Parts: sequence; structure tokens; C-alpha cells
Amino acid sequence: MTLHETLETAIRTIPDYPKPGIMFRDITTLLGDASAFRRSVDELVHPYAGTKIEKIAGVEARGFILGGAMSHQLSAGFVPIRKKGKLPHDTVRIAYSLEYGVDEMEMHRDAVKPGDKVILVDDLIATGGTAEGAVKLLQQMGADVVAACFVIDLPDLGGRAKIEALGVPVRTLIEFE
Ligand code: 5GP
Repeated sequence: MTLHETLETAIRTIPDYPKPGIMFRDITTLLGDASAFRRSVDELVHPYAGTKIEKIAGVEARGFILGGAMSHQLSAGFVPIRKKGKLPHDTVRIAYSLEYGVDEMEMHRDAVKPGDKVILVDDLIATGGTAEGAVKLLQQMGADVVAACFVIDLPDLGGRAKIEALGVPVRTLIEFE
């Protein structure tokens, strides 16, 4: 199977979750499929093999799973970006836009150093609001965000352009309407 076929088969779609009219793309089935999980992570890190990447930053919660595996592959550290109030030490915080409303995310102030090469990862990019907040937070702390990676892109929602406007290339593996 091609990677695209593997992903199409391994990602489960749940209609009307969490609200009527939403087609939720569920990656737990991909994570539970050893071959699909490995191939996804291999493909996400592929362009950066041999490049010194200091940190992978993962967005809570599914970005942690992909990010942990990517960190291992690239011998990079891992940085959790979390919803506010979850991290125990001194944090930096940013507001970001959701489909309806705003929320705040945080990371530890000492999680990245100025000039660190960092790759951001999450499972899916939709409007791009979440990833935009995370990239801005990393950039505010002086990180060089070399890429933002996602398994799934919902291109109709225009997230990619928001991230590229911050000077960060976007890498995605499969698109859904
Ligand atoms: P955005 O901020 O780009 O509009 O939404 C992306 C965020 O919402 C990501 O953190 C992603 O995990 C979550 N998300 C939104 N829709 C879906 C979906 O259909 N499936 C999954 N797995 N996550 C989603």
C-alpha cells in the first residue's frame, strides 16, 4: 500500500463528533496500527534526517504522541505545549483563536533556548489557530521554528497559510475535505 492508502485506511472518521455536522478524523486507529504509526513518523521526520534539530514541540495531547516518537528518531528533546495551568514551573503563555472563541496555551520558559532549531507537531491542522499560537510562543522565546508538521490537513479551512505567514514551512501527509 502507498502511504496515502495506508493513512486513508488507518484514520477513522466519526460523523457528528463532537458536534452535529463535524466529521472528526480520529487518529487513535492510526496510532494503534503498528505499521501505519511507524510509516507516519518516518515520513514526518524524513526531510530532517541528518539535520541538527534541538527540540520537537508537541501540542497537547495528540501532538505528544507523534512528537515523542519524532524526538526519538531525530535524537531531539521534546517540549510539551499545554493548555494553561498544567505545567508546574515558570511558563510563558499565549492566547490563540479557536473556531468559536479563544483559549490560552503555555510552555515552560526554559524549554527552548534562543536559536534552537525546533519542529512543531500536531495531529491535524484545520483553521491553524492552535498551531499559529504554538509557533508564535516558540518564536517569542527565540526558537528557530524550521517546520510545522501534521498528519492531516483540512485545506478548506486555510490553516497552512497562517503558519507560512510566520515564515514556517508546513508539512502534512494527507488531506481531507
Ligand atoms: P485548528 O486550531 O487548526 O482549527 O484545529 C486544530 C486542533 O484541533 C488540533 O490540536 C487538532 O488536534 C484538533 N482537531 C480539530 N479537528 C480535529 C479532527 O477532526 N480530528 C482530530 N484528531 N483533531 C482535530
